[in-house]
Amino acid sequence: MARYTDSVCRLCRREGAKLFLKGDRCYSSKCAFAKRPVPPGEHGQSRKKQSEYGIQLREKQKVKRAYGMQEKQFRKYFELAEKAHGIAGEELLFLLERRLDNVIFRLGLADSRAQARQTVTHGHVTVNGRKVNIPSSLVSVGDEIKIKDTSKDMERFKEIRESDARGTVKWLTFDHANLTGQVVAMPQREDIDLTIEEHMIVELYSK
Ligand code: SF4
Repeated sequence: MARYTDSVCRLCRREGAKLFLKGDRCYSSKCAFAKRPVPPGEHGQSRKKQSEYGIQLREKQKVKRAYGMQEKQFRKYFELAEKAHGIAGEELLFLLERRLDNVIFRLGLADSRAQARQTVTHGHVTVNGRKVNIPSSLVSVGDEIKIKDTSKDMERFKEIRESDARGTVKWLTFDHANLTGQVVAMPQREDIDLTIEEHMIVELYSK
């Protein structure tokens, strides 16, 4: 499937939820979904009641789009989640949360997951002292995620270093002055801020 190139705000409107794909704008009054929370297109406002399949599909698309996944890749995460010991839907979310690009986003080192992905692929990130440029790498408890010394003076990172300390999710800590994050626990369901009914994804893929 080709990568989506249209306005990402349309995706939020299509999925009926804020997917936080545009950094600061998502938290401002300029948010397109806040201004117009109806599906895009001529008949957006008059959409018919959705079937059970339609609702399950939308839940899957919502998560897939929020984390910037392609279908094939997303399906692989689901297969891994099914093999884990916990509840498949939750395990799926935990795997997505543990991706290195998501961690960079959660630490506030990027405004969006798309920017976080680019930060990783451009080689600005180290994990436990080694450069890692694969956004899908999974972090584990004890891992130290850092912006490379040679990248620290980039404008974006300089601003973060010089700003006030900022919070992050419970399972990470962040030392903004040193642009260093640490994984202190595994993500829990309550750490995931997306409004999502993940069991519907399990039901969809179990058909
Ligand atoms: Fe656009 Fe962000 Fe609002 Fe979504 S949440 S509509 S990406 S501004």
